[in-house]
Amino acid sequence: MEKQLSNPVSYELGPYRPPSEAYSLLLRLTRNCPWNRCRFCEMYKGQKFELRTMADIKQDIITAAQIRDEIAELAKNAYAKDLRKAAAAVFSNPPDFVYQNVALWLYKGGQNVFLQDANSLVMPTADLVEVLKFLKEKLPTVNRITSYCRAKTAALKKPEELQAVRAAGLTRLHIGLESGSNNILKMIDKGVTAAEEIDGGKKVVAAGISLSEYYLLGIGGKALWQEQAVESARVLNAINPDFIRVRTLSINERMLMWQDVQNGVFVRTTDEELIEELKLFIQNLNCRANFVSDHISNLLQELEGNLPEDKEKLLAIIARFQALTPAERQVYRIGRRARYYNVLDDLTDPGLHQAVEQIIAKLSNGTGQVDEQVVYKMREAM
Ligand code: SF4
Repeated sequence: MEKQLSNPVSYELGPYRPPSEAYSLLLRLTRNCPWNRCRFCEMYKGQKFELRTMADIKQDIITAAQIRDEIAELAKNAYAKDLRKAAAAVFSNPPDFVYQNVALWLYKGGQNVFLQDANSLVMPTADLVEVLKFLKEKLPTVNRITSYCRAKTAALKKPEELQAVRAAGLTRLHIGLESGSNNILKMIDKGVTAAEEIDGGKKVVAAGISLSEYYLLGIGGKALWQEQAVESARVLNAINPDFIRVRTLSINERMLMWQDVQNGVFVRTTDEELIEELKLFIQNLNCRANFVSDHISNLLQELEGNLPEDKEKLLAIIARFQALTPAERQVYRIGRRARYYNVLDDLTDPGLHQAVEQIIAKLSNGTGQVDEQVVYKMREAM
C-alpha cells in the first residue's frame, strides 16, 4: 500500500459511532459530550467538550475527498478501474484508520456519513447547515447523513432550525432515550425530562428527520423495572420514532453508577428479569416503528420487526425463551454471554451445547448453577 499511496494524509476522528453506522464515513464536528453527566455512561468521562472550528471541519472534508480521489486513482492504475477492489486493498493494509474508514465507506458505496461526537445538534444551526452543504458539495455521492443528539438539544431547537438542517442534508438522528420515567431520568442524571424527550423527538420527526431512539434495558434496576418499561413505552408512543433500538445496561468501574451498585442504592436485574421487562415494554408499545435489538449486549438479539404488525412475533420469541426449562435458559444465557450463541435456534446445535455445558461446569465449580455475579461480569465484559 505504502508505495501506491504517495503522500498519506490524515484527520481527526472521534472514538464512537452506533453499530448501524459501521460502514459510514466518520466526520468529527465536536469533541466529546456537552452534558457528560449521565451516571451509566463512561464514553467521554474526563474529556472536555469542544466545538471544532469551521476551518478544521472543512479541511477534514477536503482531505476525505482527497483520499477518495487517491483510491479512485489507484483503481484506475492497478485494479482495472474497479473502485471496490482498490478500496478493499487499502482497507486491508491502510496507512492509518482514516484511510481504512474512507476505504470501507467507498467499498460500501460511499453514501453514508456519521457526524461525531455525542451531540452534533448542539452546534449553532447556521454552522451545522454550512457544514452539511459543504459536505454534500465535496462528497456528492453522500445521500444519508446521521448523528447522535440529545433529546434536550432537539427540544431547544425551533422547528424551522430542524427543517433547515434536514434541508441541508441531515437525514437521521440517534437519540439516547434510555428511559421515559422521570424518576429514572433523575436517578441517572440524564438532564432531560420525559416531556422534553417527547417534545424533542416529535420535533425531529416533524422536521422529516429519521429518528432512532435507544431504550436502555435494565436501567430501572430491581426497584423500577416496571416503571421503566411502561413509562418508556408511553414516551415512545407519543414520539413515533422510525426506530426503537434496545441496549442492555452494563455497569463497570469507570461509571458513576458503579458506586450505586457497590453501596446497594442500585440493584441490577438478572437476565431473566431483563426479559420480563422487555416483554412488558413491547406489550405497551403501540407506535409505528422498526424494533431492533442490534447490540451484542442484548440476550435476544433476534428480536426485530415492524411495529405494530410484528408485535406478536416479537412476543413469541420472548415466550419461546421463557418456555425453556430453567436449565436450558441458563445454557442459552451463558452461551450468549460467552458469545457461542446468537439466536435461540443455536440451542439445537449439539456441539455448541456441549461446549456451553463445559463452561457452565467450570463457572459453577461443578454445581451446575452459575452465580448471578459471574453472569453480570460476563454481561458487562461484552
Ligand atoms: S448525553 Fe450521551 S454521551 Fe453524554 S453523558 Fe449522557 S449518555 Fe453519555
